[in-house]
Amino acid sequence: MPVSVFDLFKVGIGPSSSHTVGPMRISLAFVRALITQRLLEATASIEVHLYGSLALTGRGHATDRAVVLGLMGFEPDTLDAKQADLAQSQLAQTNNLLLAGQHAISFSSVTQIVFHRDKTLPEHPNGMRLVARDSSGNSTLDKTSFSVGGGFVVTAEQMASPAMEDSLTWPYPYKSARELMDMCSASGQTIAAVALANEEAMRTHADVIAGLDKLHLTMRACMNRGLTTEGVLPGGLDVRRRAQSMHSALLARVPGQGPLRELDWVNAFAVAVNEENAAGGQVVTAPTNGAAGVVPAVMRYHSQFCGGVNPEAHRTFLLTAAAVGSLYKENASISGAEVGCQGEVGVAASMAAAGLAAVLGGSVEQIENAAEIAMEHHLGMTCDPVGGLVQIPCIERNAMGAVKAINAAHLALAGDGRHVISLDRVIETMRQTGADMSHKYKETSLGGLAVSIVAC
Ligand code: SF4
Repeated sequence: MPVSVFDLFKVGIGPSSSHTVGPMRISLAFVRALITQRLLEATASIEVHLYGSLALTGRGHATDRAVVLGLMGFEPDTLDAKQADLAQSQLAQTNNLLLAGQHAISFSSVTQIVFHRDKTLPEHPNGMRLVARDSSGNSTLDKTSFSVGGGFVVTAEQMASPAMEDSLTWPYPYKSARELMDMCSASGQTIAAVALANEEAMRTHADVIAGLDKLHLTMRACMNRGLTTEGVLPGGLDVRRRAQSMHSALLARVPGQGPLRELDWVNAFAVAVNEENAAGGQVVTAPTNGAAGVVPAVMRYHSQFCGGVNPEAHRTFLLTAAAVGSLYKENASISGAEVGCQGEVGVAASMAAAGLAAVLGGSVEQIENAAEIAMEHHLGMTCDPVGGLVQIPCIERNAMGAVKAINAAHLALAGDGRHVISLDRVIETMRQTGADMSHKYKETSLGGLAVSIVAC
């Protein structure tokens, strides 16, 4: 079944949807289960176990911070960064954690969050187990869950017995690009209109529009903060923020000057978002945090250089991009820990290419072609973040992905939509390529750039 635009694009915090947003949601769900099962008051201690990629790159991705904030009752989409920092520093000083903001327990992030770097759970590379104990040390609640990319979370029970077909009646229940295109053809609708009709099966038209506009504004606000903030990113690599100086230089440039001036702007847009993400700021997953810069950068490219600021275009862009992202989520993966960066920046570029082709007036076939081209040229891209941080290569990679997305849309619009490799084939190829890749290149920081820097 298609994935909602509001599940693919979610407001969250950096630096990672799978390693920050997902774990925060898992620990928040755990404390909520303690409350609903009337176990909160009897809870004397909590232990947290992280497995696989969560253990290997969790420190750099701030997984421990996210887990603690979730236990305290913070939600990724409404989190106040100042309040969160205050709660964290109090915990560090006192070792007292207020579960769900209500019930105090003794808790040390150092000893009670265990990074099992040598163990991966068989179900998924991003495993997490939480255990609550009473004052006698007896386990009262023990839950294992998985952060499967893009902030999506699945419990071990759900993993063991995959959900039955969605009971919701979707007007357009497409499962593949071919089915989506056929539905567009039969109904005479665009991809964005099909996606909108599906959203309206769940919420009112006014709510869908308000939700899309909020996503766009949050993306813009994140980018604007990145374009105006200087400094060094946290984590110890001493990566200096560049977007602010790139932006200042562009503003000082004589209009029309520079052979690649539009691309210079796109680079600044994408870098700005991903620097905010690396700094732990508020971002919109698109479809993940690590790849959060591609879609907003291409949207702003369109409004600044092609179409002007136009709410209708932003909505069309987001709906079309989400329809394409949904195909990857359902038929392959959007998790770097499962399929490498082709599943994050590659998917983001494919989504952005489709969105741009749509707002530039492309046919359904040209939009499908744009999405296919963008992924075809990301196949095999590894995930090897240096120091386990979402900085190198992630920040620049978003700029590269945005530029590829723009080129893919323009290439597709130069043709008539006919092409040899279909989007469905390239999605399946991406899935197989990801399955064939060594786990060294799947968000473990055990290979590639992550180890090259040590050898230099
Ligand atoms: S390399 Fe790509 S997949 Fe890996 S953390 Fe960075 S953006 Fe995400």
